[in-house]
Amino acid sequence: MSIERSTKIYLAGHLGLAGSALHRALRAAGFDNLVLRSHAELELTDQRAVRRFFAAERPEVVLLAAAKVGGILANDRYPADFIHQNLAVQVNVIEEAWRAGARKLLFLGSSCVYPRACPQPIKEDYLLTGPLETTNRAYAVAKIAGIEMCWSYNRQHGAQFLAVMPTNLFGPGDNYDLESSHVLPALIRKAHEAKATGRAELVVWGSGNPRREFLYSDEMADACVFLLSLSGERYASLVRPEAPPLLNIGCGTDITIRELAQMVCKVVGFRGALRFDASKPDGVPQKLLDVTRLAALGWQARLPLQEGISRAYANFLEVLRAAEKDAAKLTG
Ligand code: GDP
Repeated sequence: MSIERSTKIYLAGHLGLAGSALHRALRAAGFDNLVLRSHAELELTDQRAVRRFFAAERPEVVLLAAAKVGGILANDRYPADFIHQNLAVQVNVIEEAWRAGARKLLFLGSSCVYPRACPQPIKEDYLLTGPLETTNRAYAVAKIAGIEMCWSYNRQHGAQFLAVMPTNLFGPGDNYDLESSHVLPALIRKAHEAKATGRAELVVWGSGNPRREFLYSDEMADACVFLLSLSGERYASLVRPEAPPLLNIGCGTDITIRELAQMVCKVVGFRGALRFDASKPDGVPQKLLDVTRLAALGWQARLPLQEGISRAYANFLEVLRAAEKDAAKLTG
């Protein structure tokens, strides 16, 4: 049976980039029995608090979008935070969801779980077939543990836990901090500031040659709601005990970081030059997910990248204006 609109769904991490998109998508699809807790209300690394919460709420479906995330530099600098917080959140939420009787769980991973030197595009079957990229290894190992947990609960307990691996996401509510963000929000901010201050150039980290795939967060959320709404039989085929319950979510095409920077500059209207800073890491040479399985189920991304970047930039400007208003109120 597919899930009903009245199903009680706990969305963990509803204020983050992925989680806020899921929140919008669930509401738009008519799911109105949502359980939500901010980080301040529920500390997901606290096992006792999580157990109490699940025992009281008993959600039927759980979406685990809460995670400690960051870009290449943050992952490289704070590996202990990334592995510890993500493992703790996953162990608590997955175990307690099962104890409290959740029928389904959707665990959000990341495309960095796959080996560094994978053939491209990356098929789900490539999981654990080679060494990982070093810059985000701690985060990747935590996410791989999450996939393994979903699979183990399916095998041992007959659960229906599915691990989805979204490609690089961007969109409303993104992190625009230049030190800890991912490349796309960083470039949006850099291009905006370079334009606003009349600078002649914009600094892009690394060589500009790595290839990445980008998906607007609302599209990822649409894919997740699509998966949750599959008929019982089709959903069950994704979580069979014989194989890891793993599904890629991407748009199926990638571009170089250089091309991406050019596209961002075009959207923002910055006409200066790009300068490449080779002292910063490139990370994996290419990361493009194979989305054949998702496409076979009937879902496909639709939003062109440039349109997604325009929407993200509009959101960036809104956030900026709101922050400027607040600052004016404080000084006024
Ligand atoms: P990754 O996909 O895990 O490597 O994470 P990122 O999104 O942080 O970086 C993707 C690629 O963009 C890497 O090759 C970075 O070096 C490159 N990049 C170029 N400029 C920037 C920037 O300003 N910030 C970030 N985070 N990455 C950048």
